[in-house]
Amino acid sequence: MNNRELLTVAEKYGSPVYVYDSEKITSQYTRLTSAFSKVKHLRIHYAVKALSNISILSLFQSLGAGLDTVSIQEVKLGLEAGVEPSKIIYTPNGVSLEEIEKVAEMGVQINIDNLSILEQFGTRHPKVPVCIRINPHVMAGGNTNISVGHIDSKFGISIHQIPHVLRIVENTGMNINGIHMHTGSDILDIEVFLYASEILFDTARHFKDLEFIDFGSGFKVPYKEGDIETNIEELGEKLTAKFNSFCKEYGKDLTLAFEPGKFMVSEAGKFLVKVNVIKQTTSTVFAQVDSGFNHLIRPMFYGSRHEIHNISNPGGKERFYSVVGYICETDTFASNRRISEIKEGDILAFDNAGAYCYSMASNFNSRFRPPEVLWHEGEAHLIRQRETFEDITRGQLKVDFSVQTEL
Ligand SMILES: *Cc1c(COP(=O)(O)O)cnc(C)c1O
Repeated sequence: MNNRELLTVAEKYGSPVYVYDSEKITSQYTRLTSAFSKVKHLRIHYAVKALSNISILSLFQSLGAGLDTVSIQEVKLGLEAGVEPSKIIYTPNGVSLEEIEKVAEMGVQINIDNLSILEQFGTRHPKVPVCIRINPHVMAGGNTNISVGHIDSKFGISIHQIPHVLRIVENTGMNINGIHMHTGSDILDIEVFLYASEILFDTARHFKDLEFIDFGSGFKVPYKEGDIETNIEELGEKLTAKFNSFCKEYGKDLTLAFEPGKFMVSEAGKFLVKVNVIKQTTSTVFAQVDSGFNHLIRPMFYGSRHEIHNISNPGGKERFYSVVGYICETDTFASNRRISEIKEGDILAFDNAGAYCYSMASNFNSRFRPPEVLWHEGEAHLIRQRETFEDITRGQLKVDFSVQTEL
């Protein structure tokens, strides 16, 4: 999508607006599957929580991907998008046995990450195949909030508890068909995956009826010019060799699975906002836009960086700006950024707005969530409408205070 195309989207659908490029999503999917083309059975489960619009899910379905889900609602969205239940894996953390049972009834692959639920589920449904989520205790991931493999993490069953897992499996007669890990987000170093793979293989040797090994995700994507990213091609080459030789030893061609979210959709997304006010203070120039952390919380939530371009004046003289939102709280998208000269009314485009942006948006300040547009084969398709005031009041119930109760 070029600047001119983005401007036509902002004109047609107003601002703020999210725009996703189907071509970029497709090329990321192809890049990952090509890197692992020498694995006999490969399954990519797109992590729904990154961007959960039904049209995006159905794009993945058309590419041949499955889905990784973390709630029953995400499972239902996947089914709504036409994804077969057998191609959906459900990896919740700390949810009730009741919800897990409901999802299992839908024919979705269950992935259990604690001993308590494993024992209860195995006792009640010994015939339902279950994957177990292992915590390999590999330190990885960017911000501490997105690193989930460390010793204090709430995710997964510790590798030190494998003897206990084996006892539960033996006592219940349940069938473990997969081993899974997901150690965090923004993993740059492929050695992390390679080292963790050895731990997964060691774990896998204890189970005789496996069908797949799931290496989770956490691939790092570039956020700015010159940023380094996970070397997917090198990972593909090295992990394929390890995986194929493990399959030989195991005596069966297992499926190798990944479940990327950010890698698939981050770079495909742009967030377009309009500048309402240019405010010069004693220390900085603020560009105040018609959005805030209600629509894109990542910079305030985990200090993440989004490049910002003035697509209304792309060749203009660069100046330093702080780009801030309209929310009544500190609401900074970027400080001290070089952006080509901004005038009130200009449209700014945020990069990396595909993953964890719309899906984390809220109605804080009672603002509407923005529309979402899919740019597909040279055309803009509206895939979610801008909210209206009815969306804000829906479900709210009024108490009638005018009726005085008799004392
Ligand atoms: C969030 C999540 C993912 C996706 O992580 P990314 O960093 O977006 O690729 C994969 N698997 C599980 C279990 C997750 O919770």
